[in-house]
Amino acid sequence: MLPFDYAKARNENDAMERGRAPKAVFVAGGTTLIDLMKLNVMLPATLVDINSLPLDKIESLSDGGLRVGAMVRNSDLAHHETVVKRFPVLSQALLAGASVQLRNMATTGGNLMQRTRCYYFRDTAYACNKRQPGSGCAAMDGFNRIHAVLGGSEHCIATHPSDMAVALVALDAIVHIKGANGERKVAVGDFHLLPGNTPHIETVVQPGELITYVTIPSSKFAARSAYVKLRDRASYEFALASAAAALQLEGNKIHSARLVLGGVATKPWRSAEAEHVLTGATADEKTFHAAAEAAMKQAKPLRYNGFKIELAKRAIVRALSTAMQTKAEG
Ligand code: SF4
Repeated sequence: MLPFDYAKARNENDAMERGRAPKAVFVAGGTTLIDLMKLNVMLPATLVDINSLPLDKIESLSDGGLRVGAMVRNSDLAHHETVVKRFPVLSQALLAGASVQLRNMATTGGNLMQRTRCYYFRDTAYACNKRQPGSGCAAMDGFNRIHAVLGGSEHCIATHPSDMAVALVALDAIVHIKGANGERKVAVGDFHLLPGNTPHIETVVQPGELITYVTIPSSKFAARSAYVKLRDRASYEFALASAAAALQLEGNKIHSARLVLGGVATKPWRSAEAEHVLTGATADEKTFHAAAEAAMKQAKPLRYNGFKIELAKRAIVRALSTAMQTKAEG
C-alpha cells in the first residue's frame, strides 16, 4: 500500500479542488518530485496526477508570440519550429537542461516549479530551512561550492536550478495561474521568490492553484538571443553559472537588452545593472565586459563559491557575443 493517496485529475477544476487538500501535490512529469519522495524530502499526503489535462499544446498568438500549455514537454518546446527560429535563447536553454530522457518527461509548468539541487536540502541528515523551516542552513558554513552569490539571505543560499526559467525571464514571458478565484497572470521574473526569512516559500503559487499556460510575447530582441551554460561536465548537469542574453540592435548600437543569470542566484536573476550598461552603448566586447562587471558587482561570495563570480562574467560576455552574431527570424 502506498504511503500517500493518488488521484487522477479529471479536469482543471477537479485538479484544483484536489490540490487544495492538506499536503496535496500535483505530479506532471515527476522528474523532481519522485526523486524527492524517494529521499523522504517531500512527503505529500496526496499526489494529484495532472497528466491527462489538455494543456499540452503550443499555439501561435496573433501578435507573433506563443501560448505554451503547462503540460508541454521540454523536448517538444525545445524543438518547436517557432521556438527554434524565433526564440533561440529558449530552445538553447531547454536543450542545455538535464538529459534527453528527462526532457521527454519534464513539463513547462513542472520546470518552473522544480526544487533546488542544494545537496543539504536533499539529505535529511542535515539542517535545512527550506525543507524544515527554522532548522538552520547546513550550506552556510558547509561546502557551499554550488550555492548562490546573488539573492541569498542568512536563512538560505540555494540556487534556482532551471535553465528554461532564465530564458523565459529574458523573453518577458508570463505565467498563467488558475485558482478558486479565477485566473491571474504573473511575469516569470516575479514568479520565483527570494528566500528572505521564508526560504520554504519558493513561488507565488498558492495551494490548489494550477499553472495552465506560459505566454511568450513577440519581442524585438528575441531574434538576437543566446543562452550559455557553464557546468562541471558537458551534459546532464546543473549550471554553475549561466546567462541568457537578448539584444535589439540599431546599427552597432544596442537599443534594448535583456540579461538574465542562472546558477549564481536564488532565483532567475535579471540584471538591471547590466541592462543599464548595455542600453544605448556600442555592441562590442568592451561594452559586454562592462555589463558583466556591473552584473556581478553586488555578488557576495562564500567560502567555496567565489569562483562563480568570474565564471558568470565569462558566461555573460559569451552570451552577449553569441546573441550579437545570431540573427533568427524577427
Ligand atoms: Fe537548505 Fe537553502 Fe541552506 Fe540549502 S542553502 S541547506 S536549501 S536552507
